[in-house]
Amino acid sequence: MIPQVLAFITTYRCNFSCDHCSVAAGPERREVLAAGVMQRVIEQAYALPSIRVIVFTGGEPTLYPELIQEGIKLAHEKGFVTRLVTNAWWAQTAEKAYRFLQDYRAAGLDELNISYDDFHAKYLESFGGERNLLNAIRAATELGMTTLVGSVLYHGARIRSGYLRRIFKDAGIQQEIKFLEDFVFPLGRARRKLPLHFFPSDMEKREQGACQEAGHTLTILPDGKILFCCGHIINSKAQAILTVDSMASGVSLPEIVGRMQRNVFYWWLHLEGPEAVLAELGVEKKFYRRCEACFYLGTACREKLLTLAARKEEIFARWEARKIGLPA
Ligand code: SF4
Ligand code: SF4
Repeated sequence: MIPQVLAFITTYRCNFSCDHCSVAAGPERREVLAAGVMQRVIEQAYALPSIRVIVFTGGEPTLYPELIQEGIKLAHEKGFVTRLVTNAWWAQTAEKAYRFLQDYRAAGLDELNISYDDFHAKYLESFGGERNLLNAIRAATELGMTTLVGSVLYHGARIRSGYLRRIFKDAGIQQEIKFLEDFVFPLGRARRKLPLHFFPSDMEKREQGACQEAGHTLTILPDGKILFCCGHIINSKAQAILTVDSMASGVSLPEIVGRMQRNVFYWWLHLEGPEAVLAELGVEKKFYRRCEACFYLGTACREKLLTLAARKEEIFARWEARKIGLPA
């Protein structure tokens, strides 16, 4: 697997404090990526032909318009597809939405992803409410961007893709909009604030096997650390198991990818998934989501994991033997 997407978590600051936020973003947070680091990463990404898309997310990235527009401009000049993820606080009226997005479009923004669901609705209300969503989608479409609305669900959630399709249809919005649904994940603020019934737990339907996300996305955190996936354990103490290095150390992006390719844990997640690692460590526990299993590996199993790193050669040889059909 070679990375195809570069995702900047530009900040943990946000003007919302959604109950489900797995990175616990909010108005009190101040972490923000340095402009120089962002610039260096984008320039070095040019040397990695597999990377096509650069994502600017957070927190709420549009709280730092200069930083984000500079990043989009550079990424666009280098030929990457650019994507912005936002909560649409800025789209109170049609005119405001258009004016706001015009600057991002001029910088080279291709795709607008809006996060909207029952959790976001509570906070969007004080900035205008659901009309923001319609204004933002209309303005983005007029400006020629592709659009997606991402929603986080729980049992009994009202706002889902079906509901969204209806309100867009009722508002006369004909253009193609993509929808992405995910389930609420028990980390960050969600872990502290939401009761257990919010989290799906039907083990019959649990995620199993290889994690295609491992290695697909390189994620850069506000402090410059680089992780080899964009999974849900970011901004938790377990993130260390996915961290390759930090841009602050002076390492280059191609070196980071080289290190990832030599990381036995990365390969294990990518080829067999976190449950297989747990099984190797003799842990019987099962988890509904793969990322929950990774969180457990990065917390309760941290010491045991280090022993696997010491057996790296033996593990690589075992995979090689399987690949060519020899007894392991
Ligand atoms: S889920 Fe999104 S909008 Fe809500 S607090 Fe987190 S970053 Fe902000
Ligand atoms: S399962 Fe692990 S490797 Fe895969 S996305 Fe989740 S945290 Fe990342």
